[in-house]
Amino acid sequence: VARHRRLPSWLHKRLPSCGDIEATRRLLADLHLNTVCQSALCPNQGECFARRTATFMILGNTCTRNCRFCAVEHGRPETVDQDEPGRVAEAARRLGLKHVVVTSVTRDDLPDGGAGHFAATIAALRAVLPQAYIEVLTPDFRGDEEALATVARAKPDIFNHNVETVPRLYPMVRPQADYRRSLQVLKKMKELDPAIYTKSGLMVGLGETTDEVLQVMADLRSVDCDILTTGQYLRPSAGHLEIKEFVTPETFAWYAEKGREMGFLYVAAAPFVRSSYHAAEFSEKVAGK
Ligand code: SF4
Ligand code: SF4
Repeated sequence: VARHRRLPSWLHKRLPSCGDIEATRRLLADLHLNTVCQSALCPNQGECFARRTATFMILGNTCTRNCRFCAVEHGRPETVDQDEPGRVAEAARRLGLKHVVVTSVTRDDLPDGGAGHFAATIAALRAVLPQAYIEVLTPDFRGDEEALATVARAKPDIFNHNVETVPRLYPMVRPQADYRRSLQVLKKMKELDPAIYTKSGLMVGLGETTDEVLQVMADLRSVDCDILTTGQYLRPSAGHLEIKEFVTPETFAWYAEKGREMGFLYVAAAPFVRSSYHAAEFSEKVAGK
């Protein structure tokens, strides 16, 4: 995190003491897997790796888009690694995961946007860990309904697609994305298979107002989104968007309360919340797995 100014006290993170961090890193490196934890410089990496959890990032380490908040590399992506689904399943087995989260870079270069590779990864996970809860956090597939149907047929337990910010800030934050299209993606997935929980999230601290955040939450409920995450945007480097505001823990608690009132089944809202932060809490507490 670029420390361009002093962080408020609630953003001082204690380093976990557990030696499992290195073991998790080695396991992932041995299987040649990418994680969004490492590629996006997630501030929770030490904590999650110490607890032997990670979020797999499939379809390579290079993204075809260039969101201004994101530390993932941009450029010409690699060819799709057909053995990757099997290695993800093997890593999940070795880590003993009960709730597996799989995300990817955006692959606008592929005809199906990588949907088939998501489906293959879900199938590989089901074969090795039939009891595990499987959550996918996907790109928008440019709104391609056939790509969404491919993912739906693979039956993930949770389909997550982040709106990331309020619509007014899209041109600055996610110039190649479209707020309405992202909402449509969530809506379509619910229509394709109502048994799949849908999930979305946004970062705050980018200059949005509280009313705009509440409107996004209402928009998400209007497409039957079940789960919401929201956390503080932290600037990964001086080349990324500036932090406009440090949102207080009290405001996060208020967003969480509002979200529950609006009917989300589960809301995680706190400064260090990320899409996949403590993702297993949903399967343990709400879905009863
Ligand atoms: Fe990885 Fe998610 Fe944990 Fe961050 S919060 S380290 S992305 S599992
Ligand atoms: Fe990062 Fe996803 Fe945007 Fe690519 S599409 S730059 S991985 S947030």
